[in-house]
Amino acid sequence: MIPLDPQKYRPDFPILSRKVNGKPMIYLDNAASAQAPKCVVETIEHIYYNAKANVHRGVHCLSQEATANMEASRERVRRFINAESTDEVIFTRGTTEAINLVASSYGELLEAGDEVILTVMEHHSNIVPWQLLQQRRGIVIKVVPCDERGVLDIEEYKRLFTPRTRVVLVCHVSNVLGTINPVTEMAAIAHEHGAVVCIDGAQAVSHLKVDVQEIGADFYAFSSHKMYGPTGIGILYGRRELLEKMPPYQGGGEMIGHVSFSGTTWAELPFKFEAGTPDYVDAAALIKAIDYMEDTGIGRIAAHEEALLHYTTERLLQIPDLRIYGTAPGKAAVISFLLGNAHHYDTGILLDQLGIEVRTGHHCAQPLMERFGIEGTVRASFALYNTFDEADAFVEGVKRVNAMLNV
Ligand SMILES: *Cc1c(COP(=O)(O)O)cnc(C)c1O
Repeated sequence: MIPLDPQKYRPDFPILSRKVNGKPMIYLDNAASAQAPKCVVETIEHIYYNAKANVHRGVHCLSQEATANMEASRERVRRFINAESTDEVIFTRGTTEAINLVASSYGELLEAGDEVILTVMEHHSNIVPWQLLQQRRGIVIKVVPCDERGVLDIEEYKRLFTPRTRVVLVCHVSNVLGTINPVTEMAAIAHEHGAVVCIDGAQAVSHLKVDVQEIGADFYAFSSHKMYGPTGIGILYGRRELLEKMPPYQGGGEMIGHVSFSGTTWAELPFKFEAGTPDYVDAAALIKAIDYMEDTGIGRIAAHEEALLHYTTERLLQIPDLRIYGTAPGKAAVISFLLGNAHHYDTGILLDQLGIEVRTGHHCAQPLMERFGIEGTVRASFALYNTFDEADAFVEGVKRVNAMLNV
């Protein structure tokens, strides 16, 4: 495998040459949203200037082109995650909507006293929809703990199952700790107990090769904007057999077979779950984002990010009083840390003054913050275009900030 040279790719991302507070920008907030390459932006521009038309209902040329783009995107996503059929690929607004779809629709099949298991490191978007369901239907929520490194306790996970366990919810990669969870093993255990597994893949798809069939995922959710694609679109993969049993999520156009006041029928999969005009422009641009990642090579991207992760971690740990949260073996390229008694917010503000864009706060994972007895962290996360020079500048920046805040 030829190592990835980020300098070769940076010209594809014009935003990377901008300045922030008079300093060259160093963008290390990729886990929140990754930048989009020119081919993605140009596709959006091209469609708006030349081909914008609604899908599915039109006989005219533009509408047929739009429909073809939308379905080509569905096929591209299918191939990307190795789903068996495009019927199992549902477009949503993002990971959040995808999980809400599962909680609302699959949730209709659950009864009071049925149990779901989720992990302490879930993003709020994989917790709150299940709490809403708890209020509506009286389900029971159980939580898998993790150790100090951020590794899930699989023995405890096994002990949480009862004959009432219906759904397991787990993130493939933690957005705070970088932990890569053993989702294949966890899915197998869930299946032994007759439960289904819904995996939050928001942080995984741009860093790992994901094969939903190999994992044994029943549901798998992710967002385009975190994988170098446009914002506003995401995907829910669902196993056909489950999707067929589930009631529609929202009602409206596109999702119906026939509407009558004496009774309405639903469209076939996947359209049953896609009420209203879909995001057909971003769907077309998403094809380019997937092509870009796969042409670059997901394995090469991962190896580059891992090299940056080790290089940066080693240097950061030389800073007195710096604590890293998330030290699981083989973790993804996310570094959450705190400096002495400094507030994460102050650290983030000062780094921004140096042109370094990191995320601060609870990262939509307050139960995980509670687990570690903190309110938030500073988080740096890498993407394919980050360089070792940027890693050096980041470490120097953290040293300066530490000297200012912890004297
Ligand atoms: C970003 C993120 C989400 C939410 O994604 P949206 O695009 O905001 O819907 C969910 N889970 C994880 C792990 C994330 O990182």
